Amino acid sequence: FMPFSLPSIPASLLNAALLFVLQIFINNEWHDAVSKKTFPSVNPATGEVICQVAEGDKADVDKAVKAAKAAFQLGSPWRRMDASHRGKLLNRLADLIERDRAYLAALETLDNGKPYSVAYLVDLDMVVKCLRYFAGWSDKFHGKTIPLDGDFFCYTRHEPVGVCGQIIPWNFPLLMQAWKLGPALATGNVVVMKVAEQTPLSALYVASLVKEAGFPPGVVNIIPGYGPTAGAAISSHMEVDKVAFTGSTEVGHLIQKAAAESNLKRVTLELGGKSPNIIMSDADMDWAVEQAHFALFFNQGQCCCAGSRTYVQEDIYHEFVERSVERAKSRVVGNPFDFKTEQGPQVDEEQFKKILGYISTGKREGAKLLCGGNPAADKGYFIQPTVFGDVQDNMTIAREEIFGPVMQILKFRTIEEVVERANDSKYGLAAAVFTKDLDKANYVSQALRAGTVWVNCYDVFGAQAPFGGYKASGNGRELGEYGLDAYLEVKNVTIKIPQKNS
Ligand code: NAP
Ligand code: MG
Repeated sequence: FMPFSLPSIPASLLNAALLFVLQIFINNEWHDAVSKKTFPSVNPATGEVICQVAEGDKADVDKAVKAAKAAFQLGSPWRRMDASHRGKLLNRLADLIERDRAYLAALETLDNGKPYSVAYLVDLDMVVKCLRYFAGWSDKFHGKTIPLDGDFFCYTRHEPVGVCGQIIPWNFPLLMQAWKLGPALATGNVVVMKVAEQTPLSALYVASLVKEAGFPPGVVNIIPGYGPTAGAAISSHMEVDKVAFTGSTEVGHLIQKAAAESNLKRVTLELGGKSPNIIMSDADMDWAVEQAHFALFFNQGQCCCAGSRTYVQEDIYHEFVERSVERAKSRVVGNPFDFKTEQGPQVDEEQFKKILGYISTGKREGAKLLCGGNPAADKGYFIQPTVFGDVQDNMTIAREEIFGPVMQILKFRTIEEVVERANDSKYGLAAAVFTKDLDKANYVSQALRAGTVWVNCYDVFGAQAPFGGYKASGNGRELGEYGLDAYLEVKNVTIKIPQKNS
């Protein structure tokens, strides 16, 4: 990163004048919750309430779905809009996000706790690129003409699915919003999105930009609120045609079940992981240590694809562990608005406690705590960068997703052994291998059952390349051309061709 080149943080965000009520966005208008209820959004660096937010639930979801359906009516401005113009609106939204980039990054830091430098340089960069990427697709997804037997002209149309429910998590609030809005809008769908209760602020600000960009009313509706009420109302709604969810595997089960028990709406899930990161003894040591550190600790360890099982080959194990501990100890934890900070607080008290719980379980089950293990400040939800060595495959910390700054290092001997152990997980989101040997890299990357395999790198993302999980890590893919599939129905049109011109 180049913190010195960052724009300063908007002063309005740093004073305490943020006691406004944020509302629900339906039909390009702001609404209180039907119930009039609100809930607080908390700054995880201090534990203090930032502001109150309208608490949407079933009644608000019903309102939003109604608005979305009206926007999707045949003959509506959105349905009649040129595909190229949809792309233009998405590009305009990207322009507005770029215009307000510093404000949005600061809002993200305030609400989520991630370092401002990361929010500005990484999250916002990826958000804008994602929207522009999908803007480009708006007039480029083609059907086919098909040589059907007989005198028929057969072709396919790729049509929008309709009302898309989108339920997003708190770890990358703006980016997950962009990953979901981009493909849905490029392909002409309408959206009812529930944002995570921990981090509603930035997504609601983007709602105001959706309106400013010129999207017709009802095309995008955004509801802050809780999962079991607002989220469940979306996944079980009879008039929602599709639901896209990112979050825990536990809730993924509930979403799929709700879809099955209501109208069999299409479901795409991007869930948890316990991704293996394999370090072979011939790897470049400096690079592998730094990348394994990044793979786990990036975003306070709150990444679905975190490299949370670091497998190290036995002849380099000791040196690797020693250097990983050194690196973790030097990680700068603190005020996320400080440009030097590498790690801010965890998102909320629940996650903070859950992570500390996993750390005590790790100790109890016999893993070796090599550094960290405690809260890192008197207030806020900061946790010391923590490294466990001598971790065994059957330990809880080697099997479950911790979603925090806690690294597990495991030892292996042979390549066949490590592949088998790496695949022995209910998850299959991502994986990585570090080696200079092309044969080993090829062998491992084909043998691993994961939606993404990184070779000599980690967490390399681009809007152009698909992302998603094998096994219990989910179904469907986001991003890239593959990411369009979830938002398109394929219609076959078959026309009788007359054989004589009458
Ligand atoms: P979560 O509950 O799965 O949250 C994800 C989203 O689903 C939120 O918007 C949430 O609403 C909503 N939700 C919750 N219950 C729902 C239900 N019954 N029906 C419909 N929507 C529902 O995740 P969490 O509780 O925040 O975090 C728990 C664990 O999930 C983490 O420790 C981590 O392991 C995993 N996680 C994974 C990802 C990922 O990127 N794959 C992201 C976040 C968390 P609320 O805002 O009310 O929770
Ligand atoms: Mg939850």
